[in-house]
Amino acid sequence: MAGLCAAARARELGGSPTVLEKGTRPGGSMVLSSGVIWRYRTFEEFRAQCPGGDERLQRLVFDGLDEGLEWLESLGAPVVGRETGNPLTTGVRFDLEGLTEALLRAAGPVRFEQPVTVTGDALLLASGGFQGNADLVERYVRPAARLRLRANPWSSGDGLRIGLERGAALTAGLDEFYGRNMADVDFDEPGFVPLAQVYGRHARIFNERGEEFFDHDQVSWSELDLVQATAHQPHARAWYLLDERALDERVRYGTVRDLVAAAPTRTDPAELPFEPPSSTVAAVRVAAAITHTIGGLRIDDRARVLDEQDEPLDGLFAAGVDAGGISTGGYASGLAAALVLGRTAAEAALS
Ligand SMILES: Cc1cc2nc3c(=O)[nH]c(=O)nc-3n(C[C@H](O)[C@H](O)[C@H](O)COP(=O)(O)OP(=O)(O)OC[C@H]3O[C@@H](n4cnc5c(N)ncnc54)[C@H](O)[C@@H]3O)c2cc1C
Repeated sequence: MAGLCAAARARELGGSPTVLEKGTRPGGSMVLSSGVIWRYRTFEEFRAQCPGGDERLQRLVFDGLDEGLEWLESLGAPVVGRETGNPLTTGVRFDLEGLTEALLRAAGPVRFEQPVTVTGDALLLASGGFQGNADLVERYVRPAARLRLRANPWSSGDGLRIGLERGAALTAGLDEFYGRNMADVDFDEPGFVPLAQVYGRHARIFNERGEEFFDHDQVSWSELDLVQATAHQPHARAWYLLDERALDERVRYGTVRDLVAAAPTRTDPAELPFEPPSSTVAAVRVAAAITHTIGGLRIDDRARVLDEQDEPLDGLFAAGVDAGGISTGGYASGLAAALVLGRTAAEAALS
């Protein structure tokens, strides 16, 4: 998304950008997403939710989002909702096909290349993170077992690699990621949303050794802390154990009972590999899946990639997931960061 937003903004400002795409279609993980581009309602909430993030970048994304959303609409991106359903946040949900078409119209032609050859005075790294590269995930995130991928397959750290080759510094939080605990089965794109098990806060949470490794009262609203903790459990798996009260809890799309009933790894408590609490009436085996990395290249508030001395590297920009340091310590909208930083990078490159 960040690359398309940057190209669209650059063209608007009179530039002649070239979008290079490694995948077989444009739009990356944006096209697979739920299309909700959001921010916290207040900047204080953003800081409280993502305390490890770079305050200047958080300010940039927070202040620039509403204008960015209006800009998307002005390009013709169709809105399907103006509520996020979360009292902490505000945002807009776009129709993904329409959003992609609007951005492509404004960005100009996309050149599909593998490998990608880079030319031009300014280069924007917008390759979407390194979650698609199991070696990099192992090096930086250090999960107990390979994480399942819940994202496009092409974001495999090319931006990170090119940045490092040119002397870029990295942010904190390289071990953090946005993802979901998923029903522990093989899945591909159609399973990304329906197989996500986002009700850990109502469950008792055990690993397969029978240890309760996370207190459900402490699970954050986004459940990212639980997903990241699951990644460090044996086989990067967990069991969600549910009692009758938990099954009646309401979640975003119905009740926990509905989600448990649909989960392919729903298990009778009598068949668990350990003795569950006596009130357990249902169990679901989940595995941690990664959608995108949170740490990445260090940038300034003009999206310029920085070196270890915090000096900008000549002609090198990063946006979207390739740029780290925005939601460190918590969770914030990746689409929002891609939109705002993509636009910022274009404006900086052409100024
Ligand atoms: C199921 C799902 C639901 C989600 N829901 C939401 C949501 O509702 N709200 C939200 O904010 N976020 C959501 N996200 C996350 C969101 O999709 C990402 O944060 C966002 O797409 C990141 O933007 P990006 O531009 O950094 O990466 P992408 O949108 O993934 O784009 C990166 C692009 O770079 C390409 N690429 C990789 N390497 C190279 C290379 N060497 N050369 C050229 N091209 C390359 C990739 O093919 C891809 O097209 C969701 C993601 C998923 C998978």
